[in-house]
Amino acid sequence: MRKPVIAGNWKMNLTVQEAITFVNGIKDELDAIHQVERVIAPPHVALTAMADLLGGTGIGLAAQNMHYLDKGAFTGEVSPLMLKGLCQYVIVGHSERRMYFGETDQTVNQKVHAALIHGLAPIMCVGENLEQNESRLTDSWVAGQVQAGLVGLSSTNAQRVIIAYEPVWAIGTGRACDAITAQHVIQVIRSTLSILFGEQTAQVIRIQYGGSVDVNNIAGYMRQPDIDGALVGGASLKSTWPQLTRLAVVDS
Ligand code: PEP
Repeated sequence: MRKPVIAGNWKMNLTVQEAITFVNGIKDELDAIHQVERVIAPPHVALTAMADLLGGTGIGLAAQNMHYLDKGAFTGEVSPLMLKGLCQYVIVGHSERRMYFGETDQTVNQKVHAALIHGLAPIMCVGENLEQNESRLTDSWVAGQVQAGLVGLSSTNAQRVIIAYEPVWAIGTGRACDAITAQHVIQVIRSTLSILFGEQTAQVIRIQYGGSVDVNNIAGYMRQPDIDGALVGGASLKSTWPQLTRLAVVDS
């Protein structure tokens, strides 16, 4: 059985003090939902404060990005070595990183390897843009991103990766991909994983949906057989975040 993962990506929002206030307000309610893995991904500067605040709870922490090298002359970057011990997950290849910061499938692949070496679970984002979607290229594009992002992994290591299918046109737009279509694409991803690593491994890897998930649509995604949680942006900054997480617990 795959335990669902509900992760909140705060993006570039909340000061450290605001983050402390927000998490103090939701953590007990969030911590009580044991059926799913609960993760928050604050900006890097808030990770230490969040790690202190969440110590002793079952709520996990993710970084939103990292470099793939341990150290060096990379002004402004954060390394896996620095994140190790502070958080358990790291988001890699988010479409905003690909779009605005030049991330490629190759750097995503390097980050996936670096994360695993340092004991961090990578949440690897893939997804098509609107043009690709309208040209019916979604399945082949997403399968290609999965394949390229996971190059060189053993089956054992691949099992520790979480994949987030996030259609770019659905992120932050309020235009969510319907649950049946998301299930279809995620099933394509699982078939790709089966070709790459074998069916047994493909059945273990968790695959999330992301893109305008909210309290009204989360249950619909979670009822799909291949969808193992959600990567959530805007709705993870609301006081209804524990409610959304609770709604992710459905009988499948
Ligand atoms: C995201 O940032 O990964 C995301 C899915 O954002 P939103 O939920 O706001 O669409």
